Amino acid sequence: MKILVVNCGSSSLKFQLIDAVSEEVIAKGLCERIGIDGSQIVYTPAGGEKTKTQAPMPSHVEAIQLVLDALTDPETGVIRDLDEIGAVGHRIVHGGEKFAKATIITAEVMEAIKDCNELAPLHNPANLIGITACQKLMPGTPMIAVFDTAFHQSMPEEAYLYGIPYEYYEKYKIRRYGFHGTSHAFVSREAADFLGKKYEDMKIIVCHLGNGASVSAVEQGHSIDTSMGLTPLEGLIMGTRSGDIDPSIMEFIAHKEGKDVNDIMNILNKKSGVLGLSGGFSSDFRDLEDAYMEGQEASVRTLKAFAYRVVKYIGAYVAAMNGVDAICFTAGLGENSSLIRNLICERLGYLGIEIDRKQNEKRGEDMIISTKDSDVDVLVIPTNEELAIARETYRLIK
Ligand code: ADP
Repeated sequence: MKILVVNCGSSSLKFQLIDAVSEEVIAKGLCERIGIDGSQIVYTPAGGEKTKTQAPMPSHVEAIQLVLDALTDPETGVIRDLDEIGAVGHRIVHGGEKFAKATIITAEVMEAIKDCNELAPLHNPANLIGITACQKLMPGTPMIAVFDTAFHQSMPEEAYLYGIPYEYYEKYKIRRYGFHGTSHAFVSREAADFLGKKYEDMKIIVCHLGNGASVSAVEQGHSIDTSMGLTPLEGLIMGTRSGDIDPSIMEFIAHKEGKDVNDIMNILNKKSGVLGLSGGFSSDFRDLEDAYMEGQEASVRTLKAFAYRVVKYIGAYVAAMNGVDAICFTAGLGENSSLIRNLICERLGYLGIEIDRKQNEKRGEDMIISTKDSDVDVLVIPTNEELAIARETYRLIK
């Protein structure tokens, strides 16, 4: 059976067609600039050429139609008929407290996702539009929702509550939710399998370090804490997001610079993180790494601060789990940057961690980068959120 995995953003749509049994990617691509002039679809069939086609996409419905046309194209397509798609797995950013697992989408589920819109106003409405568009074009094909927040629903109250009046939790459900859940779940399980250990017996810390970045503590197969909060703004220093700050800073800047709350949120989400800390040099870690190697002061302070924050979270999660068996690095930076992994791991000697420098220079595959004598296994595990969504989708409709 073939599963179509769909990830809708406000103006983009990423897709992959995956064989549920062999887990091979049959085709993948991206629709960009939906609802904006100059929209295009990028499409790559397995073993074939990547093509870019400009086409009008006033809404996600046209985008999905173009994806389905590309998949069934007589020359470059990979299926003859849409009936070959057994189900569609949708990535949904926020499932609030309602969804601790992936679920088959019904009218009630659509309503429940809508109820979470307030918690993710940029993402959930786009996700819902994607589902509606698919339902329209593929009536009768089961649709599955896989939530970014679901894996973290196992966090205990003491980890998800904020130290603010409890009535805000009761009235508005203000609490820590955490994100990247599909990745944290996939990577932690993959690490246990790779080590040949029982997932349910392990204490694992996953560092998902990409443009958006988060750390999680996974104990006995359950997330017990994670660094992102009500929204993806909390926690680590990210590409353009600030991560943890003293909330008073917001009022201070607003006062000094004559800004309102929307301006401040924009600064914290789009102009902070490593972009802001490097004085606007770059939000891309490759640029920062190159400049770091040349000793550029702005990049040195930025990457040191980035790594330090990760080190602090690792320490906190070792404490939360009263130990750790494995630490995993994943996502763009975690999978590829030996420099960042080094900057982090050189401060973990207190855990008995020793890194094999030569092994750490490698990239792009499941591997252990700690030495045989290291008390804790340190691994690089490439994440694969699309595959994880396809697996969940298949599991639910099988
Ligand atoms: P997201 O999905 O949140 O957009 P990714 O997981 O794709 O992010 O990670 C993107 C980040 O990973 C970018 O900042 C990029 O510079 C960084 N990255 C990718 N490859 C490398 C590399 N070889 N060395 C250092 N950083 C890298």
